[in-house]
Amino acid sequence: MNSYAYYNGKFGKRDEINIPLSDRSIFFGDAIYDAAIGSFDRILWEDEHIERFLSNAQKIGINHSYTKRFLSDLLREIGVKSMIKSYFIYFQLSRNSSNRTHSANGCDSNLLITVTPIKITPHYSGLKMITTDDKRYGFCNIKTVNLLPAVLSATDAENKGCDEAVFIKNGYVTECTKSNISIIKQGRVVSHPKTNDILPGIAREHLMLCCESLGIEFEERKFTKKDLIDADEILVTSTTKLCQCAEMIDGISVGGKNPILARKICENMYDEYADFCRINE
Ligand code: PLP
Repeated sequence: MNSYAYYNGKFGKRDEINIPLSDRSIFFGDAIYDAAIGSFDRILWEDEHIERFLSNAQKIGINHSYTKRFLSDLLREIGVKSMIKSYFIYFQLSRNSSNRTHSANGCDSNLLITVTPIKITPHYSGLKMITTDDKRYGFCNIKTVNLLPAVLSATDAENKGCDEAVFIKNGYVTECTKSNISIIKQGRVVSHPKTNDILPGIAREHLMLCCESLGIEFEERKFTKKDLIDADEILVTSTTKLCQCAEMIDGISVGGKNPILARKICENMYDEYADFCRINE
């Protein structure tokens, strides 16, 4: 597979870059990350991705000397070096390298970046999903590499022929394994509030902006699994999928009651990406 990577100053093909076993991401998942899409030397929603990355590092007390400017230049440099026209770029910062001891002191964080090809197509509907108990821990608002419940639920969904798993916590829909979820009800978009129970997705933020520009009300409130099943439309957002609608949840047909509005939103989100690509050509 065509891929490129960076680790603490070394550049190379992804499978040729070595990570020392003392990197705390390996034994403890003691690392934060972010993921974006890019084209040549540009990264879509770059400021937001880097700001979230730096803010997450601060939230869990990872010491480092990386500035926003440095990260921006490095991500762009790697994007260009990869020679991949349209790419997915993953960047991770682990706390440091240490013996396997739980207490986390010390500086010298480790920066890892990988670049792989991605193809983003205007595909607005047809997502099939399952629901599952949200067994994740309390920092869902921080993008850490502790992803086991998400990994197990995403695998379960895939094994059932589905695209995503929707987490339900105390009767309320939180988000999905790798995307946020919102509903359309009576012409307004409803989304879980930005609490510790969800990742504040950047695509979700752009969904909010898109609603604002289209004059659609965007309401942040919790909604139940029943609200989800009864919704007029179900919108699933992430940086790599932009905005897509669900048509099936736990084998039940869902949404499809306001396709014009749903399509308008999805198209508007995709147009932003298409404009980004055009600027880079
Ligand atoms: N929620 C979770 C749990 C995620 O892992 C992701 C993306 O990886 C998202 C939401 C969507 O976030 P973004 O829109 O920033 O890609």
